[in-house]
Amino acid sequence: MPESPPRVPLIQSPTPLHRLERASDSLGIELWIKRDDLTGFAMGGNKGRKLEYLIADALQSGAEVLVSCGAAQSNFVRQLGAACACFDLKCAAAVMQLPYPKETGEPDVAAMQATNGNVLLDSLVGVDLRVSANGTWEELDTHAETLAVEFEGKRRRVYRIPIGGSSWLGAHAFEQAGVELLAQTADPFDWIVFASSSGSTQTGLARAFHGSATKVLGIACDPEPEMTHDFEALAEEVRARRGGPTLRAPNFHFNLDFVGPAYGVPSEAGNQAIQFLARTEGIFLDPIYSGKAFAGLMDLAERREIGGRVLFWHTGGTPALFAMP
Ligand SMILES: *Cc1c(COP(=O)(O)O)cnc(C)c1O
Repeated sequence: MPESPPRVPLIQSPTPLHRLERASDSLGIELWIKRDDLTGFAMGGNKGRKLEYLIADALQSGAEVLVSCGAAQSNFVRQLGAACACFDLKCAAAVMQLPYPKETGEPDVAAMQATNGNVLLDSLVGVDLRVSANGTWEELDTHAETLAVEFEGKRRRVYRIPIGGSSWLGAHAFEQAGVELLAQTADPFDWIVFASSSGSTQTGLARAFHGSATKVLGIACDPEPEMTHDFEALAEEVRARRGGPTLRAPNFHFNLDFVGPAYGVPSEAGNQAIQFLARTEGIFLDPIYSGKAFAGLMDLAERREIGGRVLFWHTGGTPALFAMP
């Protein structure tokens, strides 16, 4: 296998792994949690792992400005901004309040705050945030490219990062996270359940547990049924560089039943899941990702579609709690 890509240290790892006794009793499964909400870096979250590799790659390329994009409450942009601050890099991001196809109209988000939660933290670490009107993810990508070209026009060396940090390095980071988990426990899990969106968390974990008895189940936070093809393409990119298995779209366990009204809009089931975990275990989930994923876990456990030894991988996101009505 080729040499491991360079990385800079950002997070405290391994992140804690522990059993949830009260929630286990209540749900009738043996439930564990992997605390990537407690990475110790920039208020936690799964993006810190990816950034250890992305920042190292950016530094190696001689970049001065890192350009990415996301929703206004992006946890990735917050952690990217903090990582850039640590390495004296400029961070610029194209953001929009919500991705929403124009033809279907806008959800009612008037009460949502555009200045709190992650947006507040972005401003503290000095992210150059460029806000555009709501539109599709493709439109947002175009805005990010315009931003990158703007800096290049000023003779600044730019490093482009896809949404959510889901380049092959992001997937590699999560394959390593899977290796970290394997070293923490001798007993294999039957299921690993987590919030899935831009793809590198799911692709990395799928590589780490391929061929084992552990099933890696992503709960979608974005209503895009064709996402598994993006996972396949990302897996192929990692395989080209690092070797390992060929993963096809049907190899990914991906559940679209818990998105709720739309990406970035809280769901009733998600809000109930947030309250459940807070009141049984004192652990906070977020309304955009981990709350919806945990709602999925609860529902699937109740219907006996998952069971046995189950790991919930907490991907963070809690600052968004302070930006929702
Ligand atoms: C980004 C994010 C995810 C999804 O991870 P991907 O690698 O983009 O699929 C899940 N939960 C939280 C809190 C996130 O910020």
